Amino acid sequence: MKRRTFIKTASVSGLACTIPPIFPNLYDLDYSTAELMGKADIELFGEGINLREEAYESFLAMKKAAYSDGFDIKLISSFRDFYHQERIWERKYLSFTEDEGLTPLEAIDKIIEYSTIPGTSRHHWGTDIDIIDANPKVSGDVLEAEKFEAGGPFEGLKLWLDENSEKYGFYLVYTDNSRRRGFKYEPWHYSYAPISIPMLTAYRKLNMLKLLQKEQFLGIEHFTNGFVKTYLQDNILDINPVLL
Ligand SMILES: [Zn+2]
Repeated sequence: MKRRTFIKTASVSGLACTIPPIFPNLYDLDYSTAELMGKADIELFGEGINLREEAYESFLAMKKAAYSDGFDIKLISSFRDFYHQERIWERKYLSFTEDEGLTPLEAIDKIIEYSTIPGTSRHHWGTDIDIIDANPKVSGDVLEAEKFEAGGPFEGLKLWLDENSEKYGFYLVYTDNSRRRGFKYEPWHYSYAPISIPMLTAYRKLNMLKLLQKEQFLGIEHFTNGFVKTYLQDNILDINPVLL
């Protein structure tokens, strides 16, 4: 339902006490299966930013505010389509099975510590970002949780984001909650909630078990129904509850 319709319906039926949605887009549920799986050619905004329009504008506003407080938000990753995710998956699968000699199941378990099964990534929604602070000099991999902790180069930005990101609609997805299953803590991964919440709602209605059976990427022949169900439950749904 579009927001306009929602307001109209609400006023026509005299629901004076209806609480307006916090995120108006919650009522905008027209997403295709291809779009939800990262296979559609969606319109993205911002050179080198590549987010849906509203997420892009909010990101820019957040970046500007952070900048005036001394932090230079740098995007490490934003939109990645299905095929890009498939390449990441297959590269890791080959490296774990051939170079490190893991069994297919061990390799799959290791990949899904941080990387999604193609078709199940939030990065193909055009709402999610991986960010760091470009100011400090950093050696090695920038996307490591300890770099965002006390004494780490991105500690300041993390504290700023804790304080401010939600004002711009950006929420941490994979929180530092020891009882959370699925993907490990990712202090760099934020999601633009006003769009990603309705997208996740629509995504949950897809039959991913069936949709994945049509795919042919490396290792998929080792997926059992039980594995896919647990993965969806843990990796897709065991996230920051605000985003559900
Ligand atoms: Zn990410």
